[in-house]
Amino acid sequence: MIVVLDGPAGTGKSTVSREIAARLGLSFLDTGAMYRAMTHWLLQNGVDVDDADAVALASAKPVILSGTDASGPTITVDGVDVSGPIRGAAVTAAVSAVSAVPEVRVRMVDLQRHSAEEAPVGIVAEGRDLGTVVFPDADLKVFLTASAGIRAVRRAAQLGVTGPEQIAAILADIERRDAADSGRATSPLAKADDAIEVDTSAMEPEEVITHILGLVRQ
Ligand code: C5P
Repeated sequence: MIVVLDGPAGTGKSTVSREIAARLGLSFLDTGAMYRAMTHWLLQNGVDVDDADAVALASAKPVILSGTDASGPTITVDGVDVSGPIRGAAVTAAVSAVSAVPEVRVRMVDLQRHSAEEAPVGIVAEGRDLGTVVFPDADLKVFLTASAGIRAVRRAAQLGVTGPEQIAAILADIERRDAADSGRATSPLAKADDAIEVDTSAMEPEEVITHILGLVRQ
């Protein structure tokens, strides 16, 4: 069984999809973490992330492995756990440019399909293009949305940030990433025709989880 959740940053995708995987006894794959791990490696190795040719060439080198246990997903690059550093501001600022490079996407999509094949029972995967490109035959496709303002407030709460200026900066970053992810030529953030859209703006995570578990059982 393959369940995919796509949507922009801050819709609650990670929390919700991981919890759904845990409750259904399925594997879990955070595809954004894979693009972040690639970006982290490129930055660490002095590759200019705005030079698409340089990124394309270098992106064949790192070995990226995603642990798919829903109770404690891990991500390593060349054997080093990068779960912490990939959430930093430098990676967040650069990841959209790296993700737009077709060679990067081809590699990541291969790895993502491989993870699904290896999953003993099935997988819940979250990302941007899973319903449209990576798993077009998924058993259930969900597209999560929420207003940009709500998403910024949620992200601020996660980071423990309360100042209006900091929240405004998070909102600007979310809007920049939305535009970059939606506007790119290769695999833009998009809802698959057969995906079910769930607007989480006024929903608690548990409500979203219950709603999606209901869709799985239908
Ligand atoms: O989900 P997260 O915010 O960690 O994703 C980080 C970035 O990775 C996104 O902004 C997007 O540029 C990229 N991404 C992607 N395709 C996916 C998952 C993430 O391009 N399937």
